[in-house]
Order: sequence, then structure tokens, then C-alpha cells
Amino acid sequence: MKKADYDLVIIGGGPAGLTAGIYASRARLNVLLLEKMAPGGQLLVTDWIENYPGFPSGSSGYDLVNNMAEQAKRFGLIIETSEVLSLNLSDTLKKIELSNKTITTLSIIIATGASPRKIGVPGEDIFTGKGVSFCATCDGPFFKDSVVAAVGGGDTAVQESIYLTKFAKKVYLIHRRDELRAAKILQERLVANDKIEVLWDSILTDIGGGLTNVEKISVKNVKTGEEKEIPVSGCFIWVGTFPNTSFLKDSVKVDKYGFVIVNQNMETSAPGVFAAGDVRNTPLRQVVTAVGDAAIAAVSAEHYIENTWAVV
Ligand code: NAP
Repeated sequence: MKKADYDLVIIGGGPAGLTAGIYASRARLNVLLLEKMAPGGQLLVTDWIENYPGFPSGSSGYDLVNNMAEQAKRFGLIIETSEVLSLNLSDTLKKIELSNKTITTLSIIIATGASPRKIGVPGEDIFTGKGVSFCATCDGPFFKDSVVAAVGGGDTAVQESIYLTKFAKKVYLIHRRDELRAAKILQERLVANDKIEVLWDSILTDIGGGLTNVEKISVKNVKTGEEKEIPVSGCFIWVGTFPNTSFLKDSVKVDKYGFVIVNQNMETSAPGVFAAGDVRNTPLRQVVTAVGDAAIAAVSAEHYIENTWAVV
């Protein structure tokens, strides 16, 4: 058999990818981590993490993921900035097509995470970067003493709306039901924050403004049918995520939402290919579950590599 360039290639540099990198490098595998942009994933746009064990006062998302990257590099993990275009898994020697070259590997861990979902209302695309945002940490400071809107009822919408009140003088939180999905502790903080007004049973129907910035939104109450315009300078959208799997095409099985299907060893439908973190079908998407998945995926990859080399 021809020699592979790598024993293992990890695709994605968020908490799952970096943790897999720590375990695989420490196991002395010949491993490469590919990341499209800077390592960090969604943690880079998360203001504060307070439920990751071992940090009694919490940690900024940036510090947490930066420490993971430093830890992985200390064990010799090589991180390359490169976008994966496609996978060819037809052989034991798997091929990964990048924009400038094709590399070969015995095993792969998919850890590409998930990205913010859009709502699809008029104005959402036109005003993205001009008042429509998916990231409070990145754009919150632009809205000092302004009135802004936020959409969603999950942990992200509630946590990030609270963060926005550090800058904005008022935040309208628009939620389509009369009950939030967010954790109870976040709901308690929301209620205690007098800068946030929740618009219950309401959906965003339009985002409007001038050439360069958002000036207003339209909101409809789904129970009464009443529609009103609200002047705002910004609109943050936090309505969940979708998996980053476009490069997979049909190479591994995914569920009806596109999340990669794995078993308890993090094995996908393709031998030697594993998945970890937000990109996989999982009941909980947290940093702590991503890193747990990644440890299992790395050890499974190690076993796969040992067995594969033993028979070739
Ligand atoms: P999520 O839990 O899926 O919540 C999405 C929210 O958006 C839901 O309230 C949903 O409403 C609403 N929504 C969905 N589609 C919509 C649409 N088209 N129009 C209007 N509203 C819509 O997503 P998330 O808040 O981003 O959280 C993702 C995962 O990360 C979760 O597992 C969460 O626990 C985790 N997370 C954890 C923390 C933390 O622990 N501190 C922080 C952030 C995220 P319905 O409720 O009506 O379905």
C-alpha cells in the first residue's frame, strides 16, 4: 500500500477539532488540523462561557479556545489554514481535496461545527453587516446607547441579548412563542434586566432602512395578527444553527437536517471517518459535549489506524 501523507486529518478548528488534536498529537499520530479561517469556531463569537467545568468565574470564549489551541500546539499539532472542497473515501487511503492540493490520510475526524441560521425575511441579506448581525461580541459595541432588536428564544438569543444591554439602551427580544427555550437561569437574568422587552408570540416580517444602515423592523403578533413598525438601529438574529457539511456531499450519511450520523464511537457510515461536536446529530450542543465527542473520536481513530496498518 502507498504511504498516506497523514495518519489522521481533523477538519475544523473549534473546541471539537482542537480537542481531537490534543488527544491525537499526544498519542503521537501523524496528524494535521485544517481550518478554513482562524481556529476557534463559534466560541470566537461567544462572549462568556460559564458552564464549562473548571472555570469558577467563567471564561471568555476567545480565551477558552485560544488555550485549547496552545495546548494542542504544545503536543505538536500542526494547524493549516485551508478550505476542504471535497472528500474521496472510496479507498483505505482517503483523499482530501483542498483549493491548492490533494492530500491523503488513513482517517478523518469531521469537526466543522455549525453556522447561524437565517430567517429569510426581506432585508436580512441586504443589511447583513449594515445593522443585521449574528454576533453580539463582534458588533454589540457599535450600538452604544441605541435601540436594537434580537430574534430567538434559545440560550444564544437570551444570553447574547443580555450581553447587548452593556451597550444598547434598549433591546426588543422577539420570540415566536409565549415560552422561551433558554435555560431557566438565563430566563431569570432576562426578567431581571429592565433594558430588555420581550415581544411574545411575535415574528419579524421585515427589516428596513437607508442605503447603509438599519432604521426599522416590522413585527407581527401571530395570535392577534397585529403588525407594527419599530425604529431600531440594529437587528441580531439567533434562531439556531445549521451544520457545515457542504463539502461532504454524499460521502457520509447525514440526518434529515444535514447533521452527520455517528454511533457511540463517533464512527460515521464511512470506515475510518469520524465526526465530533456540533456537526454531528446530538441532543446537546455545548463546548463540554463537543470536547467529549472529540476525545472519543480521536481514540476511535487511533484504534482504526492501528488495525488498518496491521492488515496493510
Ligand atoms: P436553539 O436552541 O435551536 O434555539 C433557536 C431559537 O430560535 C428557538 O427559540 C426557536 O424557537 C427560534 N427559532 C427557530 N427558527 C426560527 C424562525 N424561523 N423564526 C423565529 N424564531 C425561530 O439555538 P441556540 O439558542 O443557538 O442554541 C444552539 C445550541 O447551543 C443549544 O443546544 C444551546 O443549548 C447551546 N448554547 C448553549 C449556551 C450556554 O450553555 N451558555 C449558549 C448558547 C448556545 P422555538 O423555541 O419556538 O423553537
